Amino acid sequence: MTQTHQIVVDKVRKSKVDSTDFENLTFGKTYTDHMLECTWRDGKWHDVNIKPYGPIQVEPSCKVFHYGQAIFEGMKAFKDENEDVFLFRPEDNWKRFNESAKRLAMPELPEDVFIAGLKKLVEIDKDWVRKGDGLSLYLRPFMIASENGVAAAPSTEYKFMVIMSPARAYYRGEVRVVIATSFSRAANGGVGYAKAAGNYAASFYPNNLAMEEGFQQIIWTDAATHEYLEEAGTMNIFVRIGDKLFTAPHNDRILNGVTRRSIIQIAKDLNIDVEEKRISIDEVNDAARKGTLKEIFGSGTAAVVVPIQGYKHLEFVHELPKIDDSYALRFKKELNDIQYNRVEDKHGWRVKI
Ligand SMILES: *Cc1c(COP(=O)(O)O)cnc(C)c1O
Repeated sequence: MTQTHQIVVDKVRKSKVDSTDFENLTFGKTYTDHMLECTWRDGKWHDVNIKPYGPIQVEPSCKVFHYGQAIFEGMKAFKDENEDVFLFRPEDNWKRFNESAKRLAMPELPEDVFIAGLKKLVEIDKDWVRKGDGLSLYLRPFMIASENGVAAAPSTEYKFMVIMSPARAYYRGEVRVVIATSFSRAANGGVGYAKAAGNYAASFYPNNLAMEEGFQQIIWTDAATHEYLEEAGTMNIFVRIGDKLFTAPHNDRILNGVTRRSIIQIAKDLNIDVEEKRISIDEVNDAARKGTLKEIFGSGTAAVVVPIQGYKHLEFVHELPKIDDSYALRFKKELNDIQYNRVEDKHGWRVKI
């Protein structure tokens, strides 16, 4: 029997939206009026609440602090010219959240909590979704182990929460990267494919070292040989050699990105030759030397695409050419047009709130 969950709403007395400066937003620093909170206890999800955004109380022995059972998602809501608000492929994030949950021995979320909860929350805070290119509302669903006690075993209690932050398109300047030759983000049989908080924690130190050398990011390679490109920082990776586009196939080390999947489909729609295959560094360096390496870019919800201007692999340093017919920027435009309801949604990716 499937349980149905009622969402209880407690609204703020006065919204902060009018006193928010939408022109000067730092990513992830401002939150909307409300958040969703829900608790797993005795083998069930209880008390789906939408309430004022604010601190939560947990004890220091709360398991998430000790064993890192924590997962999250990143999604966006967009507003069109008629003030209608849309999510982009939310089912994909829901399914991936549950895959992450399973891998971290956490309970899965039913659709009437994850999807219905998200929709209701966005609906309540829809004034926080601003119209205009590059403006969106960033949604952060996450789950933490909330049982008290430091015994090293899966928690018996969890909190699922959703918080939301208004966002502007952000341009981070030119991005140059180091290709990893000793550090790894993910191991065979590990949790690389899950959106586990710990994956990020483990990447900060190598990333700091790259930044000290004057680079902005790391391209992660396969842990066993460091011979194949796997991810671009916290994004999926695409490489264009000549007019052909390649992206690493997802496996247990690589996150199965919604943006990546959408770009593959858009490439096909635009008759761009796209192939999912292992991309060897030798092949990329060869193409760089021959002048056929045209683009490298990362893909993800936050920035859609991030073109990479140059890279370093061991002693080899290469600067990518400036080109007029960038695939990356074309994909960004195509995706944004769908997300903001400016073009037909052929694949049924938009979900109206
Ligand atoms: C979230 C994430 C991505 C991008 O996934 P999207 O669904 O496109 O946002 C890629 N790689 C890693 C490691 C991620 O955490």
